[in-house]
Amino acid sequence: MTNALSSDRVRVRFAPSPTGFLHIGGVRAALFNWLYARQHQGDFLLRIEDTDQERSEEKFTQDFMASLRWLGLMWDEEPIFQGKRLEVYREKAEELIERGFAYRCFCSEAEVGVMREQAMKEGKKPQYNRRCRDRKEASVGLPFVIRAKIPLEGHVDFTDMIRGPIRFENADLDDFVLIRSNGAPTYNLSVVVDDVETRMTHILRGDDHINNTPKQMHLYQFFNYPVPQFAHLPMILGPDKKKLSKRDGAVSANVYRAEGYLPEALLNFLARLGWSHGDQEIFSMSEMIQYFSFNHVQKSSAVFNAEKLLWLNGAHIRSAKSERLREIVLEDFSHYFSSPALSRVQTPLGLHLVTLIQPKVKLVAELAQQLVPLCTPGTVEVDATDLKWYKDPQLKATLQAAIQNVLGSLSKKMEGAPHVRTGGDLVWGTSPSLGDQGMSSVDMDGFFRQISEQHGVKLGDLMQPVRLLLTGRMVSAGLFELLSLLPWDLVQARLAKIQTL
Ligand code: GLU
Repeated sequence: MTNALSSDRVRVRFAPSPTGFLHIGGVRAALFNWLYARQHQGDFLLRIEDTDQERSEEKFTQDFMASLRWLGLMWDEEPIFQGKRLEVYREKAEELIERGFAYRCFCSEAEVGVMREQAMKEGKKPQYNRRCRDRKEASVGLPFVIRAKIPLEGHVDFTDMIRGPIRFENADLDDFVLIRSNGAPTYNLSVVVDDVETRMTHILRGDDHINNTPKQMHLYQFFNYPVPQFAHLPMILGPDKKKLSKRDGAVSANVYRAEGYLPEALLNFLARLGWSHGDQEIFSMSEMIQYFSFNHVQKSSAVFNAEKLLWLNGAHIRSAKSERLREIVLEDFSHYFSSPALSRVQTPLGLHLVTLIQPKVKLVAELAQQLVPLCTPGTVEVDATDLKWYKDPQLKATLQAAIQNVLGSLSKKMEGAPHVRTGGDLVWGTSPSLGDQGMSSVDMDGFFRQISEQHGVKLGDLMQPVRLLLTGRMVSAGLFELLSLLPWDLVQARLAKIQTL
């Protein structure tokens, strides 16, 4: 069989069936196709395989498109909907009958069932016995299917871009059905008709389709089309080495979005599931496009590792532009915020806070959670039960005194500060910050060390309640930076709550 000409422009497609949400195995198939197209300046097409009208649902098609858009895996041409092309597939099957590559089969399902059993009894694969293959007379009015006329002998060879040379015996292929008795095309027919019409050069898909490939190769040949190159991607398994379950990550790509994963982190993770480029773990999109190669995709299944995905997400959050992270917060997590807090997120000070939080979190949702109390006007709810002093009245008394001292000393530093903030465009309201008064985070560090020494407490013990009062949380962005940056009226009001703890 002839192979697609290597000089052809690369054209690939992602062809999901809308019978469920786009899960991560599908995303990986889309990604590898997209990377290959981008790498070769080729075309990436989206084809919705909705020929099974009972199981296909519009909401899943919408989910695919929304997920691919979010991931940035954009298709280059109008999507193809197979459900709208049923007539085309029937015409193509008729054409194959006329040209001697297919035939009508009038055997009933029950009869075919008996033939298959008979074949098994004879120690053969369960197959249709080709009774109608050479039948001359037409049985007018009887229901029929259309079957492919597969050569009885010989074999089909191809070199999979991942698995290397593969051979299938024609005798094992059966005269498979192209058009069912209700007129619906089978997967193998509609795929090939569309691959031919859209001039696909490479078929990159899950290895659950490997047994379909020799059948489809015959069909390409029947349609006089050079056989595309194939790459069958190994499965993604759960940590238990079994089929990936929902609990382990076989969920819609949208779920990852809602949890605060960045699209580039999810793609980086999926690219590395089965593919490697030396020891490198973290890839930008352009690096993935540059380095991706089927030569380095492993043949065996890859195992899903949720911890690694989280780690990669943290790495991509660290290197993301803070403006973009803020956009994501506003777009996907605005429901976390009150409306005054939301307006604060949109200011330059809001953006500055994002830059402080971003090195500390692994999920955008976490970033949003940390941003909420910082941007909320007034004081925040605190839960003192986690504090070390909670069961130590002695320590509590010492720390309360120390924090009063902090408040007193810092108030002094603010004396004489102008009532209008000088911090330029970072402003929230009118209160200046300690930073505006020249007290940097480094100065703040020195100041807290001095206070902790003075009161005979550990710096960490002093910072714990200060952090909780200021941010409402036990974990936050750099405390000294926040103390220097946030408007003094907010810092003061929050630290003053020490008396109520
Ligand atoms: N609709 C098939 C699937 O979702 C596509 C297989 C192919 O790419 O040919 O598995």
